[in-house]
Amino acid sequence: MTTVSAYAATSATAPLTETTITRREVGPHDVAFDIHFAGICHSDIHTVKGEWGDVAYPLVPGHEIAGVVTEIGSEVTKFKIGDRVGVGCFVDSCRECAQCRAGEEQYCTNPGMVGTYNGIGRDGERTQGGYSGAIVVDENYVLHIPDSITLDAAAPLLCAGITMYSPLRHWNAGPGTQVAVIGLGGLGHMAVKLAHAMGATVTVLSQSLKKMEDGLRLGADEYYATSDPATFETLSGTFDLILNTVSANLDLNAYLELLTVDGTLVELGMPEHPMTVGAPVLVSGRRSLAGSLIGGIAETQEMLDFCAEHDVRPEIEVITPDYINDAYQRVLASDVRYRFVIDTATLRRK
Ligand code: NAP
Ligand code: ZN
Ligand code: ZN
Repeated sequence: MTTVSAYAATSATAPLTETTITRREVGPHDVAFDIHFAGICHSDIHTVKGEWGDVAYPLVPGHEIAGVVTEIGSEVTKFKIGDRVGVGCFVDSCRECAQCRAGEEQYCTNPGMVGTYNGIGRDGERTQGGYSGAIVVDENYVLHIPDSITLDAAAPLLCAGITMYSPLRHWNAGPGTQVAVIGLGGLGHMAVKLAHAMGATVTVLSQSLKKMEDGLRLGADEYYATSDPATFETLSGTFDLILNTVSANLDLNAYLELLTVDGTLVELGMPEHPMTVGAPVLVSGRRSLAGSLIGGIAETQEMLDFCAEHDVRPEIEVITPDYINDAYQRVLASDVRYRFVIDTATLRRK
């Protein structure tokens, strides 16, 4: 076992504080790596605050993890010491159910994927995430980071990037497709960049026009404020695909009206409380309301390679661990441009 420094939440309301945690011995199929950067996802905040149910504190969040391999198990074939690697939202799954065999481990049904934190691994130990100095993960759940992507920029791709890439591919975004992105935060800004790189026409639907200049620079063709009721009249029946990345409840009915006949609104945000949808807005346009969860390992690797090839990178603000609590407040205030990434140097073994 190795002891490493980490930042942990000790309750739903206390600030995160520095602590130490242990990582398991490197097993035959394991890769151990020093964490260099970890992104802050809004899911970390929902989890820490107990908005998604039970949490075992102390909890070390972080599922956008990038670093460099320091040790490999005797049976490892895909990685070597010194490789630049990443880990996203899960570190294991059953490997036997139809979803696992199809490479969609995020939808594992037996009984489900093992979350990178707040999960229970095969060894019976509670998993702890990336706001820490090092981690040990089975090689089948580790990604290769392409040479041209720096480790700080790679981190947000491992959740925000794949969470947007997967539905854009699944619903065939490309030239001629009208895509709208609700919320220009961590997920939303990746959606804009990826949809643009795939050739789709992209519209941002943000609460205000404050970030319009950024949105257009990131690749949006149009930018509208949802605080302006005229937006909903102007855009009625426009979009083939709407990606909702908002972390809070919205009136989905108003947004479903913006879909074309046969259009789909994909829910990516996971607010604490249920949202209500009336039947007429779906029925009248044969519209679909769908959801999507991150992406499988193979698709995550495909996304990383796509980002390398198409020069897609997140816009990041790199912080030190002592700024995590301030960063949380800024994310909650929609004051993130567009992903906080923790430089974990002070948490690594010296
Ligand atoms: P984020 O950086 O905080 O972005 C969310 C954006 O939503 C904000 O920047 C803001 O954009 C908008 N927003 C926030 N509060 C709002 C409100 N009250 N009304 C309207 N708009 C509001 O969060 P994130 O990290 O992108 O995560 C977004 C959501 O996705 C979270 O619920 C997270 O848990 C979930 N998530 C899901 C998956 C998945 O696999 N499905 C993966 C990762 C995260 P504007 O300022 O532009 O309006
Ligand atoms: Zn996430
Ligand atoms: Zn499975």
